[in-house]
Amino acid sequence: MDNIQVFMRIRPLSEDEYKRDRSTESAVRMLADNVVSIPSQRSENFTFDFVGDEACTQEEVFDAVGRRAVERCIQGYNGTIFAYGQTGSGKTFTMQGARDEFTGPDDELRGLIPRCFEHLFTRIAEEEARTNGRLKYLCRASYIEIYNETIYDLLDPLTRTCAMREDIKRGVFIDGVTEETVQDPNEAYDVFVRGTTNRHVSATSMNRESSRSHSVLMLVIQSLTQMDTGLTEIREARFNLVDLAGSERQKLANTSGMRLKEAANINKSLSTLGNVINSLVDIGNGKSRHVNYRDSKLTFLLRDSLGGNSVTFIIANVSPAMCNDAETASTLRFAQRAK
Ligand code: ADP
Ligand code: MG
Repeated sequence: MDNIQVFMRIRPLSEDEYKRDRSTESAVRMLADNVVSIPSQRSENFTFDFVGDEACTQEEVFDAVGRRAVERCIQGYNGTIFAYGQTGSGKTFTMQGARDEFTGPDDELRGLIPRCFEHLFTRIAEEEARTNGRLKYLCRASYIEIYNETIYDLLDPLTRTCAMREDIKRGVFIDGVTEETVQDPNEAYDVFVRGTTNRHVSATSMNRESSRSHSVLMLVIQSLTQMDTGLTEIREARFNLVDLAGSERQKLANTSGMRLKEAANINKSLSTLGNVINSLVDIGNGKSRHVNYRDSKLTFLLRDSLGGNSVTFIIANVSPAMCNDAETASTLRFAQRAK
């Protein structure tokens, strides 16, 4: 399996889009199972690892992406899932689920985050039973938002800002970020719910719109193996679930002050992410490249969990509407660079 996998997901046409387009014709043409084009943009063909159309279910996305990411983490490797796409394309639907209120465990519309938590703890229980307790796992969760190149701790009710630091032993870490031990899917999901709620209601969040910031849910999965020598071997895997800022072209003209800075920072961090992934693909193909992790907070934060033996999934979310064809083409170009 390639270490970087790209999943494209087309959501159903919305009512508003239908009113604008006055048509149900999709801007995206499927040429084969995993090859698409946008004829109205006269753009090239795009090939991905998977393409999910309007009928693609949350369970299918989990099977293709979540299940595999969790499996890697159980084996001790890092995994990261990014949801990329313009605002309204389905990133949050894919990561969190359908409704504004949080979903219950049996809701078939629940997204990758709750499903990954459920599967992770199921696999942990299986591994612990299989090894008669010689192998144990400990999980810690933190949840942050990156807005305007500043990190906010979403598990702090005041969503205070934090600084990143680098240490030879720990690698890149967020100084003072809240970390909570989680022992089952409900505890993990509770962390997600609390953080997401703080993201929307805390006093310092008033000026931030979630479409303009990245949210990163980070799990550290520690495995402790009891060796015959009596020593314990400890391994750490990081699992990151990232709902990115909207990728729509940010208009810099006629914008000033905070909005301009915001727009420029979104452009920069998404293009840096693209560059980093591109460099990692080149390295995977045997070319030597320098990876510019330091060019954005997001890529620097994830430095130790991208590349190497880590597995990275990019879910490129798109709208099928003609009125969004230019943004859809731009999302697919971004995603294609990862191939
Ligand atoms: P984003 O997070 O990219 O801004 P959302 O996830 O909020 O976009 O999706 C926008 C709207 O479209 C929401 O009302 C969401 O429920 C709906 N939606 C997105 N993807 C799907 C899908 N695959 N099936 C059904 N509805 C979807
Ligand atoms: Mg969203």
